[in-house]
Amino acid sequence: MRKDSKTSDTVVPLRTMPEHLDAMSRPLHDLRISVMDRCNFRCPYCMPEDKYHPKFRFLDRDQRLTFTEIGRLTRLFVQLGAHKLRITGGEPLLRTGVADLIADLSQLDGVSDVAMTTNAVLLAQHAAKLAASGLSRVTVSLDALDEETFSRTTGGRGGVARVLDGIDAAVEAGLTPIKVNAVVERGVNDHAVLSMVEHFRGTGIIVRFIEYMDVGNINHWRRRDMVPSAELLQMIAARWPLTPVDANYHGEVANRYHFDDGNGEIGFISSVTEPFCGSCTRARLSSDGQMYTCLFASEGLDLRTPLRGGVSDQELLELITAVWQKRKDRYSELRAKMPSDADPHKVEMYYIGG
Ligand code: SAM
Ligand code: SF4
Ligand code: SF4
Repeated sequence: MRKDSKTSDTVVPLRTMPEHLDAMSRPLHDLRISVMDRCNFRCPYCMPEDKYHPKFRFLDRDQRLTFTEIGRLTRLFVQLGAHKLRITGGEPLLRTGVADLIADLSQLDGVSDVAMTTNAVLLAQHAAKLAASGLSRVTVSLDALDEETFSRTTGGRGGVARVLDGIDAAVEAGLTPIKVNAVVERGVNDHAVLSMVEHFRGTGIIVRFIEYMDVGNINHWRRRDMVPSAELLQMIAARWPLTPVDANYHGEVANRYHFDDGNGEIGFISSVTEPFCGSCTRARLSSDGQMYTCLFASEGLDLRTPLRGGVSDQELLELITAVWQKRKDRYSELRAKMPSDADPHKVEMYYIGG
């Protein structure tokens, strides 16, 4: 067992610190790490093509944290209680050598789970290596199975067959249980929901329908474009009877249901109609080293500058702890009370990581 910090001049014993609670008594249990701000898709709800055109300036290479820097920060977050890690982006599989990072992170003492969210276009070629590096499982984003709708949801990039090949390769590599996340937008892919359920039920792959959210400002979100989970639940249960199941653990974001005929389960992530801020234990690290305490935050804590300025682990721990202890974020709970034309500035999803 690793006993102390490698890079610090001040030795901080691991796993002996008290649990750090935020201002609403929520501990820090999860860290989402965005390793890449670029993406090979242009999903209109996340990176609309008109804004993220070929001349858009993404981060320069030296602005992104190196794997050593990500490893060091992650180790500190783990000391503060984070034990579940998720590698995301942008598209994480565009980051060269991401399996090497996973190999380092999965070895950290105190980490119980390293997952990845990906659009899966590059998954078939990487699945075996990711699994060998210690990745526990993948979540694949897929909004429809017919090419026409799929193309509308991805900005005309990728293809259904490649995503399904990626899922097959992930099953083969043991990156299970695999979850498929589908964002449902009214008039865009709501007609594709039943065929998604039909395709994946009985396969062991768990489909979760996500309410389209007002993350960032550039997707011009309108509440009427969001399909409430209750509506989808009713539609799906009318065809395949469902029974609610208990959460796997405190703070699980999806409401889960079993098919009564024994063909597995599905889930609903209802952050608009049923906010779950009260149990939100997630911190996020952007690819350029900003820490965010909410998906809907407008500002982050710059950790890259002090990191590159040579501060000790203890100083970094103090910076992170101070922000976490002041954390009062509960945007999704407050959204309902906001005037309908309110448009607060928020960080974009592709940058902060989903
Ligand atoms: N590129 C990877 C992918 O798509 O799986 C990882 C990053 S992506 C930002 C993470 C997740 O955020 C995806 O499942 C995506 O569908 C979801 N997402 C992006 N914008 C969203 C929005 N406005 N509402 C709900 N989910 C959204
Ligand atoms: Fe890329 Fe994922 Fe955003 Fe789609 S949702 S544009 S795949 S980062
Ligand atoms: Fe967590 Fe913010 Fe989402 Fe609430 S709105 S669940 S605090 S990320």
